[in-house]
Amino acid sequence: MKASILVVGYGPVGAATACLLGRPGVHTIVIDKSNTVFAQPRAIALDNEALCVLQMAGLSDDAFARIAIPYVKPHSPF
Ligand SMILES: Cc1cc2nc3c(=O)[nH]c(=O)nc-3n(C[C@H](O)[C@H](O)[C@H](O)COP(=O)(O)OP(=O)(O)OC[C@H]3O[C@@H](n4cnc5c(N)ncnc54)[C@H](O)[C@@H]3O)c2cc1C
Repeated sequence: MKASILVVGYGPVGAATACLLGRPGVHTIVIDKSNTVFAQPRAIALDNEALCVLQMAGLSDDAFARIAIPYVKPHSPF
């Protein structure tokens, strides 16, 4: 299978772009220079636009109820 699009970088932007392209059938390949998964959580808080992108990328309606942390309390020394 030939790919039409090459996405370089499998961070959130690359992953979302590849999902959004793949859903309507655009053949897409994603590459990343890293061969490990970034171990820290980096999406503990999302705004409405990010949630909208995740819905368009195919997360089911009940996904957030199943995976979201129900309550987040930030702590800062400042
Ligand atoms: C600890 C932490 C917590 C965070 N928490 C939140 C949060 O709660 N909510 C929120 O909205 N944001 C949060 N962020 C910010 C969020 O993670 C970034 O905004 C987001 O990762 C940016 O996505 P990106 O795809 O643009 O870039 P990146 O995540 O930096 O991904 C870029 C990817 O491209 C790859 N790459 C780079 N150069 C090349 C190359 N030449 N060839 C191949 N691959 C390459 C890299 O390896 C990387 O995987 C957090 C960040 C950190 C560090």
